[in-house]
Amino acid sequence: MDKTTLTASDLWSAVSTEIRSVLNEQTYATWFEPISAVGLDAKSITLEVPSKFYYEWIDRHYRKMLLSKIKAISGKKLIVRYSVVLGEPQKKETNGDNAIEKSIDPNERFYDSGSRLNKRYTFTSFVEGSNNQLAKAASVSVADSPGQTSFNPLVIYGGVGLGKTHLLQAIGNKVLIRKPAPKVHYTTSEKFTLDFISAIQNNNSSNFSTRYRNVDVLLVDDIQFLQKKEQTQEQFFHTFNDLYQRGKQVILTMDRHPSELYGLKDRLLSRFQSGLIVDVQAPNLETRIAILQKKAADDSLEIPFEITELIATNVRGNIREMEGALIKLLAYSSLSHTDITMSLAKRALRETLGRSGAKSVSIDDVIQSVSESLDVPENKLIGRGRKMEVANARQVAMYLSREVVGASLENIGLHFGGRDHTTVIHACRSVKGKMNNKSDFQRQVDGIRSQLEF
Ligand code: ADP
Ligand code: MG
Repeated sequence: MDKTTLTASDLWSAVSTEIRSVLNEQTYATWFEPISAVGLDAKSITLEVPSKFYYEWIDRHYRKMLLSKIKAISGKKLIVRYSVVLGEPQKKETNGDNAIEKSIDPNERFYDSGSRLNKRYTFTSFVEGSNNQLAKAASVSVADSPGQTSFNPLVIYGGVGLGKTHLLQAIGNKVLIRKPAPKVHYTTSEKFTLDFISAIQNNNSSNFSTRYRNVDVLLVDDIQFLQKKEQTQEQFFHTFNDLYQRGKQVILTMDRHPSELYGLKDRLLSRFQSGLIVDVQAPNLETRIAILQKKAADDSLEIPFEITELIATNVRGNIREMEGALIKLLAYSSLSHTDITMSLAKRALRETLGRSGAKSVSIDDVIQSVSESLDVPENKLIGRGRKMEVANARQVAMYLSREVVGASLENIGLHFGGRDHTTVIHACRSVKGKMNNKSDFQRQVDGIRSQLEF
């Protein structure tokens, strides 16, 4: 290809053909087909995307690939700029002529190069729920008085996609508002490791020390990846001590409680436990709905309540997956130029759920199946009666609501006559215990389960 006369659309057509060859058809159709290239200069290519969600999605999932294909084809390392056509495509009067274009300066939204913080992750955009209340409160207080509280280090732990990185970065962003702005550095334990290795290789440890020790607030994400890397752990230990002794704030995230992190040196673990350890858990239904609504509102999208509810009820894994489902729906809507309706939402969701192998079973479905199979009326299942068969059937229904629906303890409690979450925990334990000991009971429960999952 003649590189001197390459136009934006030539370049994009070549790049997208390449991309098409490595992605599956559906993914390509969803994310890349709607893109057109609208500008090309010596330094950058501008891609027009249907919504802000698009570029965030593309940026998060395909950035590397996109940049490398562009480089391979254009022979240059170009910056990708995104331009979003604002306005609803489904409205007739909004055609190409009067659509407002908004050019997004990549520097404005990409990680700030000094602190490596993403401005999107703030406390304002973080929805508080019973699952993350303590973690949020502790984070806010550390952000308000870095190094001044006994929460040093502050350790936030919990499963994937539950908001740890968001909180960590929110602390950083809030600290930076202070005047004069303290020095904040965000890193992941993997990046820390790489920096350390390259410092050794280049015999340049002073650079490394400056970067990590010359800060007021050090944020290190995903500490679990330091497992088994003894030398890096050693280095981290010294960095930590140095900061700690000088009253600097350290905040760490990890995927489990420090006492369950294997392959980490004891003295490091005991350091982690010397401050405050808080967890983030999976959000309950109400919080999931609130999060979706917030995401939509932050992007000035109007999504009917029933639809956020549908997504929140069906996508129960983690928040990232739930956002993925919302983005998918938006993509569907822009691609087909239709409003976001319930039937569109169901279609988009069916695909998302189909792929992850999940099926939308609700607690009500469980109650109905258990009622039929064990011959206990539904109203008794959710009632207060303590008769043995009823109580047993109720425990089975609670257990299946947890296992098959993946509902939160609180939510299950609510469905079964407003019971406490400890009752649900007890029910699940008791059913598991009985399943281990009695094979006919196990068969019975498995039978109901397979009916539900079929
Ligand atoms: P983790 O680091 O725990 O794997 P992230 O912090 O990356 O999870 O969160 C995944 C996604 O979910 C992010 O886009 C984040 O903004 C969003 N998210 C998680 N918790 C919340 C919350 N409470 N309110 C709003 N968004 C959230
Ligand atoms: Mg994270």
